[in-house]
Amino acid sequence: MENGAQQTQPWVFRGTQKFSANQSNVSEQTITIREAQEELMKNLNQNDERPFIHLAHGDPSAYPCFRTTPLAEDAIVDAVRSAQFNGYPPAAGILPARRAIAEYVSRDLPYKLSEDDVYVTVGGNQAIEIIITALARHGANILLPRPGYPLYEAHAAFSQLEVRHFDLIPEKGWEVDLDAVEALADENTVAIVIINPGNPCGNVFSYQHLKKIAEMAQKLGIFVIADEVYSHLVFGNKLFVPMGEFGSIVPALTIGSISKRWIVPGWRLGWIATNDPCGLLKKTGILESIRNYVNLSSDPATFIQGAIPKILENTKEDFFSHILHTIKEDADICHSKIKEIPCIACPNKPEGAMSVMVKLNLSLLEGINDDMDFCVKLVKEESVIVLPGTTVGMKNWVRLSFAIEPVNLAEGLDRIKSFCERHAKKLLH
Ligand SMILES: *Cc1c(COP(=O)(O)O)cnc(C)c1O
Repeated sequence: MENGAQQTQPWVFRGTQKFSANQSNVSEQTITIREAQEELMKNLNQNDERPFIHLAHGDPSAYPCFRTTPLAEDAIVDAVRSAQFNGYPPAAGILPARRAIAEYVSRDLPYKLSEDDVYVTVGGNQAIEIIITALARHGANILLPRPGYPLYEAHAAFSQLEVRHFDLIPEKGWEVDLDAVEALADENTVAIVIINPGNPCGNVFSYQHLKKIAEMAQKLGIFVIADEVYSHLVFGNKLFVPMGEFGSIVPALTIGSISKRWIVPGWRLGWIATNDPCGLLKKTGILESIRNYVNLSSDPATFIQGAIPKILENTKEDFFSHILHTIKEDADICHSKIKEIPCIACPNKPEGAMSVMVKLNLSLLEGINDDMDFCVKLVKEESVIVLPGTTVGMKNWVRLSFAIEPVNLAEGLDRIKSFCERHAKKLLH
């Protein structure tokens, strides 16, 4: 051998170009909620003696007033103690869990789902991962709401599924801009995502509006992905109507979870339910693709699945109404306090879910460049964290997650008020 040094060359990954291109693509398109929170937390003033107030994430489980029902805790303990749930579960979930979920979802539907319509998932988030991954095909595209839930964008970018955004219109109570939907769709569009009750806007779609969405999807020949992880968390004038209500107009894949209604996001249990009374999805290959991916992805812990029938069947109405009562109190505090704060506005009072979009009027604020700048300075000066709207697709808005202890919420909003008053442009007299 002529050149021995050649052999000691370090290993070089030949796929670097392609791989890094894909990675940078991901980070450019999406800053996740987690990344934004971590970034903001770095600005927390350690010398501020006041307690830190977190208004940037939808996890109220740490607050005593949002403790889950003892019945759910007992169901988990019983499942563990029974020693019946120590083994691997089947890919789609254990039969009693799928049956109980089918039964639970069917309570609100004009037809019955069976256990074969249900896949148990590691929270709503894994349901999103499964559906987006299963849909990703070369050239296909999906319609997503703006503002929305950025995990859809992140998974789509990772799987190289093209995303097209339609707007939710603040002046119309955050209804879907249906004309925009029609203009965006083409023969490669596979589905539209509808989040109801809405995160981040706190809106609830009416029966009539959901029916129009279903009819539009039918006309376009696409199906609906209905993110209903906040199902039944409504406290305004509108009732919760599941997308599956319109299953005979258009098939829907419904995403559900116990994370929000039972305030146990750490238990990581959700599902995908197929709402397809006419059996139309069977012909598309989509369900097969979902099954294939479910077969190779991981499952929620078996004992959590084992507890699901008791949790879904036995939880008492007074637990739900207590939670709703507290969230409504929070929503009222939010709405009335924001009204008194200069330079920010909340166009719609929240009617469901746990968050609301607040508009910044930057022309009235001194030395605040954009939403991220607002959030960084707010956490520095007031030890209050809210989420920059950019992370959910709306620049110069912020998302405020209000499901916390009501006294803390009131305190947080008072601090936002002093911040805004301090930074308001001084008018010349
Ligand atoms: C919280 C949330 C999810 C994820 O649900 P988990 O069960 O916590 O994984 C999905 N979609 C939306 C809109 C959410 O707010």
